[in-house]
Amino acid sequence: GDGGNVKVVVRVRKFIRRELEARSPCLVEMDPNGQQTILHPPELTPEETNNRRKQQEQRDFTFDKSFWSHNEKDAHYAQQHDIYASFGEEFLDHNFDGYHTCIFAYGQTGSGKSYTMMGTLDQPGLIPRTCRGLFERIEAEQNGSITYNVHVSYFEIYNEHVKDLLTPRVNPPAYLKIRESKSDGVYVQNLTDEPVKSYEEIERLMKMGDMNRTTASTKMNDTSSRSHAVFTLTLKQIQHDIATDSTIERLARMRLVDLAGSERAGRTEATGQRLREGGNINQSLTTLGRVIAALADPKRQRAIARSAGMQNQAKRRAEVVPYRDSVLTWLLKDSLGGNSKTAMVACISPTDYDETLSTLRYADQAKRIRTSAHVNQDAVS
Ligand code: ADP
Ligand code: MG
Repeated sequence: GDGGNVKVVVRVRKFIRRELEARSPCLVEMDPNGQQTILHPPELTPEETNNRRKQQEQRDFTFDKSFWSHNEKDAHYAQQHDIYASFGEEFLDHNFDGYHTCIFAYGQTGSGKSYTMMGTLDQPGLIPRTCRGLFERIEAEQNGSITYNVHVSYFEIYNEHVKDLLTPRVNPPAYLKIRESKSDGVYVQNLTDEPVKSYEEIERLMKMGDMNRTTASTKMNDTSSRSHAVFTLTLKQIQHDIATDSTIERLARMRLVDLAGSERAGRTEATGQRLREGGNINQSLTTLGRVIAALADPKRQRAIARSAGMQNQAKRRAEVVPYRDSVLTWLLKDSLGGNSKTAMVACISPTDYDETLSTLRYADQAKRIRTSAHVNQDAVS
């Protein structure tokens, strides 16, 4: 397969009101040509400096792309469209070729994950743009010999429970079970998988799903920052070749994932505040970190390959990587280390040195992950 490395991009957002009121300085700098992100240490009082265990230093990182969405007046300002144009469109190309893809947004609460994935009515993000692009292509490529079939699902993982976002909320909440089968891999049982024929139909479902997510958050103390939302499009192309009277089916799944706030990851250098949140550690997010660390460690992978023989490498690797330790990683196993072309958008705040450094390190590690995508194609007759 040819998945290649996980594509990793970083996006820094503008100041929000709280930061403007506090007159917080912008600690992030990006190379206008697009790859480098520099994190500057904040100015500390001498007392703050003495009290710190670790010195805060300037840190440089290089990513596939660094998106400057901090100041609209700058020439290299990245709009929603620029994010989509730089890899959303490319991923859609892969889908039409029959590859699975996955884009996930990582970052602390308030860093711009939902803005990047869903966006607003005026500034739609990757999910609506991908849906629109999908139907534009289907309409443009309609030629009689290909039939297109699109399905949508949208679910949320909260406290290791899976909830369908496309069904009305019920009390007590209905949790769905995860199943695994030879033919379908890992899947959510009884999840709504709605057939859609137009962008307008998807838009309606997208809104319903988001409503189901946000309604919950007002009642349950900020659910959306603690939950992972997984939006999935499935594209099936059925191509009939009249000359040979044969039919080929190509199946592509696109996963668009808005992760829980990374400040819940329960980092080891926990402060008092984090320790108090210990009971709420997000199992899926911590496991995601361990999965990424295992996949990104080439030494470990080489050792596994040596001890198992190259032909069994994928199998051995799957056993060592702790996918099964959380709902998120189990369901996204293929997207993370298997049959998928995958990208990560690391969202950062311009003012928070510690959280931003933690996100940049995480993203830096994700760069080293290789997936092995292949075209999902079957001759059906
Ligand atoms: P998260 O989903 O990571 O918690 P949000 O996407 O909700 O964060 O973003 C927090 C706030 O910042 C929201 O008010 C959002 O509209 C705003 N915001 C985030 N990113 C951008 C951006 N690139 N440009 C303009 N506003 C942004
Ligand atoms: Mg959000």
